[in-house]
Amino acid sequence: MSSLTAEPIMPDYTAEYQESSTSYEVPPCEAGDSCNLPTDIVLRSSDGTRFGAHIRNLEIYSDGFPMANSVVNSHEDVELSEDSDVVMLLLKFMHHQPQPDLSLLASKLLIKFANAAEKYGVYCATGVCKVMIGISVNDQPFDAFLYAQKHGYSSIMDKAGKLALTQEPAKFFAYAHSIGDTTWRDLAELETHNLPTKEVFEALKQYPDWPPIFGAWYYKRELMREAIFDTLKNPIPVQHKGGQMRCADWYPFYIEVLSRSNVTTKIAVVDANGLADRIAELYWLGPSPE
Ligand SMILES: [Zn+2]
Repeated sequence: MSSLTAEPIMPDYTAEYQESSTSYEVPPCEAGDSCNLPTDIVLRSSDGTRFGAHIRNLEIYSDGFPMANSVVNSHEDVELSEDSDVVMLLLKFMHHQPQPDLSLLASKLLIKFANAAEKYGVYCATGVCKVMIGISVNDQPFDAFLYAQKHGYSSIMDKAGKLALTQEPAKFFAYAHSIGDTTWRDLAELETHNLPTKEVFEALKQYPDWPPIFGAWYYKRELMREAIFDTLKNPIPVQHKGGQMRCADWYPFYIEVLSRSNVTTKIAVVDANGLADRIAELYWLGPSPE
């Protein structure tokens, strides 16, 4: 089988075709409303469905499909990476007829079709796809962001990106980091601050290159936590009774707060007895306890 790309397929005129063409079946057209045009090429979807199509229509209505004089004698199915639902929609849009109502499509199919229309330059579909994705950006903001970014639709990208990073911050952070987009990465990273580290870790593990991504995220999170700890450990001095800069009663109160907030049970693997005292010793910068 040959692959269909943006590059026209080169001619393959052979005598062999003349001998074997009788055994090569080209299905009738199913995409046109009462279409009587002869089919002269077979497009095979990624899930194995064979579609009879018209080379002349592919030539007129698209940029990415092969030219009429390049594959007419190849007697090979042209294999596409799109599934059958998408291929059928592409073929429908390459007929002179009323087009399918894209507002009725599921959002996943709409985005797949929109990407395919862009890939093959089916311009009578690209515009309406862009409008529909812009309207339904709430349905799948992450995929809408990828679509808009790939094809340069900045207004959709901005709207979808802001939604995606609040809905799936860890996933969005990983993607932004993987493409080196520091602006979107840092915006997404802010949204992960309220997530448990384990949740972010599990989300990032789905990406093959997760270790450096997790490392980058953890590094930025630590910078924030260090800043917060530094502030907590070094409060603005307030004069207390007797000219003291800090309240001596805070130390036992500090231990009690640690104990009641379950800090010890969250970080201790074994018996947590005495851990609050140890934490207080490590992090307390106030007057030394007696
Ligand atoms: Zn047709």
